[in-house]
Amino acid sequence: MPLVSGDELLPRARRDGYAVGAFSIHTPEMVDAVFLAAEALRAPVILQVGRRAVRHSGLGACCLWVRARAAASPVPACLHLDHAQSFEAIAQGIQAGCTSVMYDGSELPFADNIRETAAIARLCRAVGVPLEAEVGRVAGVEDDLSVQEAEARLAGPADCVRFVAETGCDALAPAIGNIHGLSAAVPVLRFDLLRAVAAAVSLPLVLHGGSGLDTGQLRAATAAGIAKINIDTELRRRFVEGLGEGLADCGAQDDPAPVLAAAALAVRRQVEARIRDFGSAGKA
Ligand SMILES: [Zn+2]
Repeated sequence: MPLVSGDELLPRARRDGYAVGAFSIHTPEMVDAVFLAAEALRAPVILQVGRRAVRHSGLGACCLWVRARAAASPVPACLHLDHAQSFEAIAQGIQAGCTSVMYDGSELPFADNIRETAAIARLCRAVGVPLEAEVGRVAGVEDDLSVQEAEARLAGPADCVRFVAETGCDALAPAIGNIHGLSAAVPVLRFDLLRAVAAAVSLPLVLHGGSGLDTGQLRAATAAGIAKINIDTELRRRFVEGLGEGLADCGAQDDPAPVLAAAALAVRRQVEARIRDFGSAGKA
């Protein structure tokens, strides 16, 4: 079916207590693997394109892969632009056919983040594409923060309420102790904070940095109001591991197909496991 808007997937997920998986794609094989997993489990799905994939393959190519594969699929799929940091990047994503976009102004001072996000929300509303935005600042694996620094980056419920009211965004990614990438220590999610934000904000909430979180943490997050969970690093890792296994297994030295198929299968298995963790199986 044609791509669907994020608005057709996320409010329902929040209401019904599950999360839609937002899987970052980097190659056409990863796109196919995500769709095969979603189709096998009859799950709605989000395929997202981030800066790394855009650098490697170009935004146009990534969006084309997803749109073409979605057209041949019976599950509802949304194409999401992840972590755009400018008005221009958002406009390019919309032009390329994204049916959901994220503006990340989290590096800006709070008032500037509100102002920029509000301007982008007006553009998005005009063209009917829902906007996700970030409050607080989600740390990266490379960030080595003191406890006070980490605390200062978290999203308080009052800030979230003000941010949503003044920006008009459609989905909110609050920083609740989650970390981008796979860190040595499993991040400690602040469920107290998440529940306070969820009680104050009725929009779908988004969890970035889902890689490496265990099933229990993910179930607790969806129960507390998380409606979209981003998974990137662990899929890249599975893909590379699968390539290694494919190379080791494959006798032929001149055919990339079986090597890529092994990588795609490794990604598919991981996506299936995450769809089960998120409770979105059978919701398509
Ligand atoms: Zn993120």
